[in-house]
Amino acid sequence: MAKKQFKAESKRLLDLMVNSIYTHKEIFLRELISNASDAEDKLAYKSLTDDSVDVKRKDLKITIVTDKEMRTLTVYDNGIGMTKEELENNLGVIAHSGSGQFKANLAEDDKAADKIDVIGQFGVGFYSAFMVADHVTVVSKAWGSDEAFMWQSDGADGYTITPCEKDAPGTDIIMHIKPNADEENYDPYLETYKLQELIKKYSDYIRYPIVMEVEDYRQKEKPADAGEDYKPEWETVKEWKTLNSMVPLWQRQKSKVKPEEYNAFYKEKFNDWQDPLAVIHTSAEGAVTYKAMLYIPAQTPYDFYTREYQKGLQLYSSGVLIMDKCADLLPDHFRFVKGVVDSADFSLNISREVLQHTRQLKVIASALEKKIKSELVKMQKDDREKYEKFWGAFGTQIKYGVVADYGAHKDVLQDLLLFWSSKEGKNTTLAAYKDRMPEDQPFYYYACGESVEKIAKLPQVERILDKGYEILYCTEDVDDFVMKALGEIDGKQFKSVNDEDALPQTEEEKKAAQEKAEAGKDVLEAVKEALGDQVKQVRISSILKSGACCLTADGPVSLEMEKYMRKVEGSAHMKADRVLELNPDSAPFAALKRAVEAGDKDTVAKYSKLLYAQALLLADLPVEDPAEYTQLVCSLMV
Ligand code: ADP
Repeated sequence: MAKKQFKAESKRLLDLMVNSIYTHKEIFLRELISNASDAEDKLAYKSLTDDSVDVKRKDLKITIVTDKEMRTLTVYDNGIGMTKEELENNLGVIAHSGSGQFKANLAEDDKAADKIDVIGQFGVGFYSAFMVADHVTVVSKAWGSDEAFMWQSDGADGYTITPCEKDAPGTDIIMHIKPNADEENYDPYLETYKLQELIKKYSDYIRYPIVMEVEDYRQKEKPADAGEDYKPEWETVKEWKTLNSMVPLWQRQKSKVKPEEYNAFYKEKFNDWQDPLAVIHTSAEGAVTYKAMLYIPAQTPYDFYTREYQKGLQLYSSGVLIMDKCADLLPDHFRFVKGVVDSADFSLNISREVLQHTRQLKVIASALEKKIKSELVKMQKDDREKYEKFWGAFGTQIKYGVVADYGAHKDVLQDLLLFWSSKEGKNTTLAAYKDRMPEDQPFYYYACGESVEKIAKLPQVERILDKGYEILYCTEDVDDFVMKALGEIDGKQFKSVNDEDALPQTEEEKKAAQEKAEAGKDVLEAVKEALGDQVKQVRISSILKSGACCLTADGPVSLEMEKYMRKVEGSAHMKADRVLELNPDSAPFAALKRAVEAGDKDTVAKYSKLLYAQALLLADLPVEDPAEYTQLVCSLMV
């Protein structure tokens, strides 16, 4: 029978694994046991929803058998099994959910051997069997099917699938262990002591018994008629033993779980190769009783900001997996959190009764939200470096959370925000900003721009800094929306440095400004006439100190929002009402005034265009006619 070929990328992965000098070959057992456990889970779940499936959870188990003579190691499960199509689809390609990033790594770097450590930490699933076996046979019978099939492969050259006999549903993975090689000894994978050690190490919390026949060397019972001089005799007995403690990590006492155990569980279950930043292990009793183990990842998942990313926590009810990603347990702003929740309060047939459980889900979700927040606040206080790492990975998500639902979650989230401080030269929390505020400072100030360096040079920033006030430099698209959503904290408003009233004026200052506006009226009108509809208004600036001009916006749409919408939608549907602000004390203003007074309309038009273009450039907005602008600048030089 002709062999079918593996899909290209599976083949590469196989080559890599088989031929690598990868040191953690032993993880193959963990991978196969996890698959077996998943298969048991699926069957247990089916039995809840499908009355024709009459399995009892206590009968579900995973069996390990070795045969030294044949050099085989077999992992049996009595789970859901696979049909012929499933064998083909699941074992002929990498179906692994977490393998996306790995594939990306492979594509990125042809010398993937450098990244081999990634393989083991990832959990590459079924394929890892080929790290220790030169031939793998999978015999499987799907639940509810009369037929069984055998999948066989030597690794890289493809596989065959043939019909076969099998009594009970489930899957047997039979590995023919490789002969020892110079640099690698494979014999231990046929030894019970080694397998026992591996199961304890990697699969202890698996919730189904992993049984193996082990040899025990023990003293024979003393015969009743034994005389004075009886010497104890020893014998070897074989007996079936359950090798894992079966207590899920989250059911164990917090103080008894080591950090390595938390991390290992996270990496295996959630397909990450980095340790998490934090673990939250919590439980509650009362209105709703549950145990939860939550993790904050250290890096942004590669698909985090795509549609593919699904938030949610694994939901167990009395040890049975009910839902893989229960979205209702996590608010969107904490959608990066991974973890499990186990609660006996959900009746087992939850899928049929989801609606009836929404109250419990809500209670748990809101308790978990509080826990996550307080864990993050704690991290921010106790380990700022770690928190900055968190912020780098998920800060943008927190900001989206502030803006979402018309600011409904801002009270929960505002303590978590970080912004660049003009005073500190690094990120600051809003609370720390507030603590540093001079008594007379009327607002929380912020300025938006492309980079901290650019913002620092904005003309409208100058006068605020001169007052000794601190400004939050905002460099993300969403920031302006965040500030608008925050609005105020404890009665103190957030104010853009672009706002006319960003610095309150004394009566004298107001009077002086009015006088200046009056004196410059002719100039302003002339400039407005020259620029036409490009700007809504030209006014004397009260926000500029040494700069000649800047652009601001009137009304609800800010320039930053316009820029953001332009980016998102490609065109600016949402346009800000532009205001060109001129500094009456600047030399260019004086030049304009002379031209207006001389009735030189050409020069007025030219200077107006020049100033407007400069204001656009300072605001990081495109100059509408760059060719004309350069011509104008050149004409000044001759
Ligand atoms: P993963 O388990 O991460 O999806 P694997 O390569 O380990 O990736 O397995 C691929 C798929 O093969 C699994 O998703 C599952 O559908 C199927 N599979 C593997 N082992 C078993 C098993 N023992 N019983 C039933 N299905 C299995």
